[in-house]
Amino acid sequence: VSALYVLATPIGNVCDISLRGLHLLGIADAVACEDTRNTSQLLQRYGISRPLIAAHQHNEREVADKIIARLQQGERIALVSDAGTPAVSDPGARVVQAVQAAGLQVIPLPGASAAITALSASGLTDERFQFIGFLPSKARQRDTELQALAAAQTALVFYEAPHRIIDTVDAMLQAFGPQRQIVLARELTKLFESIHRCALGDAPGWLAADTNRQRGEFVILIQGAPVAEGDSADSDRILKILMEELP
Ligand code: SAM
Repeated sequence: VSALYVLATPIGNVCDISLRGLHLLGIADAVACEDTRNTSQLLQRYGISRPLIAAHQHNEREVADKIIARLQQGERIALVSDAGTPAVSDPGARVVQAVQAAGLQVIPLPGASAAITALSASGLTDERFQFIGFLPSKARQRDTELQALAAAQTALVFYEAPHRIIDTVDAMLQAFGPQRQIVLARELTKLFESIHRCALGDAPGWLAADTNRQRGEFVILIQGAPVAEGDSADSDRILKILMEELP
């Protein structure tokens, strides 16, 4: 059917695309993409050739109008980003919103996302997580944001670029203290994939010990803050029993 298909692409290993996604790419009237070179490589890998529409964060509004006009003609348009799930720390959300506002259909085709991939093999046992994505690049704003997250009792999920990894981990150590677990998930699904879990206090030393550990794309996960003893329902219950026993 005619719709905007929001389609997840691989985050490294080119095989991590769904059969449904490949089929859709094969029959789409056009593929709206963040970077046409990047997407044409992916399509070539699967022997697919489709017209491409450049849709990056600077032209999302104009592109949305173009896409809406084509959907109104009954076309099927795929929307992809360079890697992973569109609209998650990537362009796409504005196009989706505009297409929905025009009363047209948006259909998601799920697949890889770096955040969920990292969480699944992190070994963290927090039942909840918050997705933060990229922190502000200015140190002061970054530190303020980290402070605001310090009491959160959920795992925290960050995206980070390689040139900032050391600074960011140092800032996290300042904000969260040395005890919590950190997971550095690097180059997921790629040749040099590594997933390292340690106490936050040990992370700067681990990174410094080998410059290869600082290279590539990172997801950083931080274990949630421990539930303070005073918060626990158990201690409240015990206190209540003791109070009843007291003369
Ligand atoms: N939309 C994408 C998704 O759903 O995962 C995220 C795109 S965002 C612009 C790129 C960031 O995602 C990188 O800086 C890195 O933090 C993370 N990332 C993407 N691919 C990765 C990989 N293979 N290994 C580790 N992190 C990755």
